[in-house]
Amino acid sequence: MKLPEAPPASLRLRIDRDALAANWRALDRLSGGARAGAAVKADAYGVGVDHAVPALLAAGARDFFVAHWGEVAPLLAHVPGEQVSVLHGVLNEAETAYARATGARPVINSLRQAALWLESGGGPCDLMLDTGINRLGIPPHEAGDPRLAALDVHVLMSHLASADEDAELNRLQLARLHQLAPTIPHRHLSLANSAGIALGQDYAADLTRPGVALYGGIARRELAGLIGQVVFPRATVLQRRRIGPGESVGYNAIFIAKREMEVATVSIGYADGFLRCRGAGFAMQHQGIDLPVLGRVSMDMTVVDCSAIPSLSAGDYVEIPFDLPAEAQRSGLSQYELLTTIGHRFSRQS
Ligand SMILES: *Cc1c(COP(=O)(O)O)cnc(C)c1O
Repeated sequence: MKLPEAPPASLRLRIDRDALAANWRALDRLSGGARAGAAVKADAYGVGVDHAVPALLAAGARDFFVAHWGEVAPLLAHVPGEQVSVLHGVLNEAETAYARATGARPVINSLRQAALWLESGGGPCDLMLDTGINRLGIPPHEAGDPRLAALDVHVLMSHLASADEDAELNRLQLARLHQLAPTIPHRHLSLANSAGIALGQDYAADLTRPGVALYGGIARRELAGLIGQVVFPRATVLQRRRIGPGESVGYNAIFIAKREMEVATVSIGYADGFLRCRGAGFAMQHQGIDLPVLGRVSMDMTVVDCSAIPSLSAGDYVEIPFDLPAEAQRSGLSQYELLTTIGHRFSRQS
């Protein structure tokens, strides 16, 4: 049976491609003599690779970073494998074979990965040095290993642990990278993520790897005013009702009306990334008017107070505020979590 086309989604995510491109250009400028790449892992931080990557390419980005091999194929619809780095590196022969077939470069993170890559035939790769995050990468005491000298390293990189803070660790990591880099032949050197770019040009080396700031995240205060909002979610009103004093709303009846009020049920819930920590104290909006959230956020629905808008009715759209620093502050979630938990039921439009 041939299904008809599905009706338009009741959840929409408008992606401002111009803002995304402007953010990349701002980060590229801030990178000084270095060029900016783009972290597009986790489906471009929830924005959607098919929306983000064309805008980034048009702006001038050429170097793309993902975490998993499963993230390579969607990127190859837009760029050749040679422009893709896979941050988790290679763990087994299935991955080395896939790297070779696609041309995407593994970021080698350990001596074990280096040996595996060389045994599989070697070729261009990237190399991660762990200068202090103790997460992924070659620790300084292993950097002299001859297996690393045998690699054909395109980008030699490290990753900052505390770039969003004025931490002593930033200087220490920069110094360690500059100490180790001359001992490993490489074509490009890379250290800074979004926050690292804001630390200044000492940190830019010759390739930067911004992620969250491309999508509107203010990773450090220096970026405020330079980075614009990219993601604008909207949801649909499903039903409107009047409730009387003493009546409760939603699971566990945690909101109880003090007076007669008008409430609207909206088609967004925690399954869409509108997590339960965005309940009390949050508001959606319609034409600039606040619609405070009432009671628990459910999986597929959230109820708001719409007493202020007598005309709001089923089928109308409401906006979900997505100013990332403000929403992060209010929810206790990080700007990264707000972006990457945006659900799959949104229809993305750019
Ligand atoms: C995710 C990631 C980035 C991008 O970081 P942001 O803080 O989002 O700018 C850069 N480099 C590595 C190694 C990463 O894992």
